[in-house]
Amino acid sequence: MIPVLIQRRRGTTSPAHPATPRMRNDTATTVENKSKADTAIAPAAPVRDQADASARRPQVVIIGAGFGGLSAAHALRHAPVDVTVVDKRNYHLFQPLLYQVATAGLSPAQIASPIRGILRKQRNATVLMAKVTGIDKAAKVVLAGDQRVPYDHLILATGARHAYFGHDEWEPFAPGLKKIEDATDIRRRILIAFEKAETETNPAERERLLTFVVIGGGPTGVEIVGAIAELAKTALARDFRNIDPRLARIILVEAGPRILPTFRESLSAAAERGLVRLGAEVRTGTPVTAVADDHVMVGAERIETRTVLWAAGVAASPAAKWLGAAKDKAGRVIVNADLTLPGHPEIFVIGDTAAMKDTNGQQVPGIAPAAKQAGAYAAAVITARVKGRDFPGPFRYRHAGNLATIGRKSAVVDFGWLRLRGNPAWWLWGFAHIFFLIGFRNRITVALDWFWSYLTFQRGSRLITGGGPDD
Ligand SMILES: Cc1cc2nc3c(=O)[nH]c(=O)nc-3n(C[C@H](O)[C@H](O)[C@H](O)COP(=O)(O)OP(=O)(O)OC[C@H]3O[C@@H](n4cnc5c(N)ncnc54)[C@H](O)[C@@H]3O)c2cc1C
Repeated sequence: MIPVLIQRRRGTTSPAHPATPRMRNDTATTVENKSKADTAIAPAAPVRDQADASARRPQVVIIGAGFGGLSAAHALRHAPVDVTVVDKRNYHLFQPLLYQVATAGLSPAQIASPIRGILRKQRNATVLMAKVTGIDKAAKVVLAGDQRVPYDHLILATGARHAYFGHDEWEPFAPGLKKIEDATDIRRRILIAFEKAETETNPAERERLLTFVVIGGGPTGVEIVGAIAELAKTALARDFRNIDPRLARIILVEAGPRILPTFRESLSAAAERGLVRLGAEVRTGTPVTAVADDHVMVGAERIETRTVLWAAGVAASPAAKWLGAAKDKAGRVIVNADLTLPGHPEIFVIGDTAAMKDTNGQQVPGIAPAAKQAGAYAAAVITARVKGRDFPGPFRYRHAGNLATIGRKSAVVDFGWLRLRGNPAWWLWGFAHIFFLIGFRNRITVALDWFWSYLTFQRGSRLITGGGPDD
């Protein structure tokens, strides 16, 4: 296929070209919808484009419209640059609430927002839906299938995916949670296990179906276990005739000595007690050694189960491969103190896909606030450069704190200066998540759904979709 060079028309308000048409949807312009005359086939650019070159504003390409990428785009809204945000999906996903989709508490649309809608009012931003497959550093071009997107400054924010510590063969039996499709698949697996148990006559198999194992005791694992326990003990409790969902076993397995290792020990212990109160079992200090269709090995113990969920490890996106760059053990690109790629001051790598270090040399955690701060920082460096201002100094990370919920009316919050547990922590957790959700509609519907669940103990999204019994 002939590569298509995406050429930006924004900023072509040079008096030399007063007749240059401004597209109707010039705000957050749809690249695919542009007329053919508005894109050029490489390598020869139209004469008018060559003449425009000196007048064209610096092109900033941001790959990934997650927390880091969107934060960078937003921080560049007043900068004298043109921004192209490239993402393989058409929506931004609020990953911290994915587990609620996986456990039938929320529906996918409540935690996702269309990227074009988010950037609609940002006049210097264009959205391109395309999967990036490589970067030509010498030509300063992003490769996305047959499209080539030129850049002056590049911000790479393509996040992470789950990793199985060298045991990729476990993935079919222990799906991880990273995408909407993962969440709906996990929801299907959980709900189908109850449906099958209802008609199962073999007691051993019924028990296997009603045993759920979650591997990984970080915030995601803790939140999934709490939510499955609630689903089984309250929402589903009276909906079946042959089984009692309250008898379901929900087991959290953590290889390290305690769950929530990034929290203070007292809060980890409180979280463990909270899970046990919900009827879950917590196994710490023993790694999983095998995962199969019908069991999990935790050390020497064999746990019979049909549903295993993975919340244990992540690996960065293939950004290091695209860049031919050095990476750490988790595949994250090693970056300079200003988050640029060594030898390439025009390329920034941020968020989960970068091994970012704070000014004190500490590794910056792979969490949403860190990605957002890195995005805003990269935008500040670019703005300083194009405006000829002083370099803002190396990236400084400000850690706001850790939050994790343990089911209904229970959470732990560790802000350093403030530590909360139980009901007050749960309210704070809820408000924080609603506040940071993108989109007014999402905030309202999530708040209403949570309020409804709070009053009725019901979970509104108990749909088995995709790969169900009819497929
Ligand atoms: C289940 C779960 C729960 C979490 N809970 C919390 C929490 O409670 N609190 C917290 O702070 N953090 C939480 N995190 C971590 C947080 O979501 C991440 O740290 C954050 O999303 C990182 O932001 P990012 O911009 O680096 O990447 P992401 O937000 O992952 O965004 C990456 C973007 O890049 C796009 N992309 C990837 N590859 C390509 C490609 N080849 N071409 C084009 N586009 C591409 C993706 O579509 C995506 O939009 C959680 C993560 C998960 C998975």
